[in-house]
Amino acid sequence: MKITAITIFPDYFAPLQLSLIGKASQGGVIELRILNLRDFTTDSHHTVDDTPYGGGAGMVMKPEVWGDAIDSVLAEAVGIADLVILTPAGKKFTQAIATQFSKAEHLIFACGRYEGIDSRVTTFYQNQKNLRVHEVSIGDYVLNGGEVAALAITEAVVRLIPGVIGNPDSLVEESHNQAGVVEYPAFTKPPEWRGLKVPEILTSGNHGAIANWRAEQAEIRSQNANREQE
Ligand code: SAM
Repeated sequence: MKITAITIFPDYFAPLQLSLIGKASQGGVIELRILNLRDFTTDSHHTVDDTPYGGGAGMVMKPEVWGDAIDSVLAEAVGIADLVILTPAGKKFTQAIATQFSKAEHLIFACGRYEGIDSRVTTFYQNQKNLRVHEVSIGDYVLNGGEVAALAITEAVVRLIPGVIGNPDSLVEESHNQAGVVEYPAFTKPPEWRGLKVPEILTSGNHGAIANWRAEQAEIRSQNANREQE
């Protein structure tokens, strides 16, 4: 899978060289490319923003610069690309969307800053061939930029690509595989820590009873998690 991020802060993506995503990148499972939006400006100040039409606070990212940057990526794209425009006004990112994106050939992240990207960028690319456009939010809060959102989505997506996680069984029972369902609690050695004992059932060797206990615990945690979201 190809992953391209367009940003005015390329350094934000340094963590993608670490851990399992770093290995996937070094091993050729993913091909990462980080583009500096300012390289697509044409003025000596490398301006990427301008004042909003209609007035109001803040600055808006210029469509010409974004257009030139996205066009340059699409010029080299093979097959269908998925352009992910990060915005708090987008569709809420979920495990189901992560699964959908993990089958993509080429994910392109457009990381906004300031008051966001001129809306015509979304409208224009929605009408282009060989491209699917997704406006995506990682939650109901506002970040300063789309980079952290692109990192979160990349991590959630890349770990689903076969071969990235050492033991694929780890993915089977995970939280959110089914909407609204989270995993049972995990314990390891020692059997007692600071007066807290591991639930006896887990050391019983009775696999059926353990599976039942875990299912019950997952149910309780799911109910609590869903209640907290209401
Ligand atoms: N004025 C915008 C609004 O109220 O919807 C917020 C702009 S925000 C300060 C700047 C950029 O951060 C956005 O263009 C987007 O790329 C990114 N961003 C902020 N919050 C986000 C979220 N929850 N999910 C995804 N991207 C986000």
